[in-house]
Amino acid sequence: MGDLPSSVYLHFPFCARKCFYCDLPSYAGRLGDIDRYLRALEREIRQAGTLQAPGLPPTPLQTVYVGGGTPTLAGAERMVELLDTLRAVFPWATDAEVTVEANPGTVHKADFERMRRGGINRISFGLQAWQPSLLKRLGRIHTAEDFVEAFTAARKAGFDNLSADLMLGLPGQTLGDVRETVSRVIDIGADHVSFYSLQIEEGTPFYDWYESGELILPDEEIERAMYHETRRLLRESGREPYEISSAALPGRACRHNLTYWRAEEYFGFGCAAHGYFDRVRRANHAALDDYLQAVEHGDTAPFPASQVLETLDRDAQMKEVMMLAFRTDAGVDAASYTRRFGEPPDERFGETLASLVIRGLIAETPRGWALTGRGLDFANQVFMEFV
Ligand code: SF4
Repeated sequence: MGDLPSSVYLHFPFCARKCFYCDLPSYAGRLGDIDRYLRALEREIRQAGTLQAPGLPPTPLQTVYVGGGTPTLAGAERMVELLDTLRAVFPWATDAEVTVEANPGTVHKADFERMRRGGINRISFGLQAWQPSLLKRLGRIHTAEDFVEAFTAARKAGFDNLSADLMLGLPGQTLGDVRETVSRVIDIGADHVSFYSLQIEEGTPFYDWYESGELILPDEEIERAMYHETRRLLRESGREPYEISSAALPGRACRHNLTYWRAEEYFGFGCAAHGYFDRVRRANHAALDDYLQAVEHGDTAPFPASQVLETLDRDAQMKEVMMLAFRTDAGVDAASYTRRFGEPPDERFGETLASLVIRGLIAETPRGWALTGRGLDFANQVFMEFV
């Protein structure tokens, strides 16, 4: 067993209300279970702490990401206490990136001040769209004004690394709406912007409405135009796209997400959280009650609530490194791949890479290979080559 992961993802599976499109592991109507859940999370963290070999210096955490759900529903005090537990078990690097996702409308000035004093230094806001009609259509609980208020309060509290999540391809959304939304997050000064195309997921109200013909989505051509326009506007504003769905000001790329795209290891704590450690991918119980039961009554440290998804052999690791690297704008870095595996990428993937180049989906770069503009639209075809 090598060093422990230097990144941690913590999942907080509670929301005030379920958005109509969402199939993420989050529960509305169970806010009374938050304290119990946080106690379970602490127990899980402490059990993972037993992995640290006595006598060896522990690996300091470089990135911590609290996602959800709506983590800010826990309140700033409980969030800081949770992170204090994590800090007591795993030391943090002095410049660790510590992100908490926030839903505008659930967090206020005093919360930001408390979170900032408690060592949180990055907030990721779920804005999704600027227009009231679209927010209502999505079932979001906030308005654009809530976002402006929360964003401004976070800045005043000293946060110099703020992100906004946007959605594209929404029912009733126009290219003009997307331009307006992107321009507003640029104007307010978001350091980082993520933009995701709506996916219709089974088991959601959107799925039923889509199936019954009630929900009309923009044509694929328009959705792609929205995507490319978003990237163009962000790039023009100095927010360089660095990943298929993220752009950032210099020095503000999300370090935590980059650990995923670089296929580095990370711990995942909480209901439905995934982790990758010692070549093994694990997933915690996705159902809240199963997770709580397993952590409260299990004695299977260091991972009381997880199942092994797969153990990656060398070939699987090679494929994964390639697939994830193609998500980034920098693409595959041949030198770092060679350092990792002792052979260049084209030794194992020469034919695949040549075929993708011929199809115009990837191109050679000074460092290796990256998606082309056309490849951005057919990225799944590229990823599938490495599954
Ligand atoms: S706030 Fe986020 S996690 Fe919660 S229901 Fe809405 S989309 Fe899902």
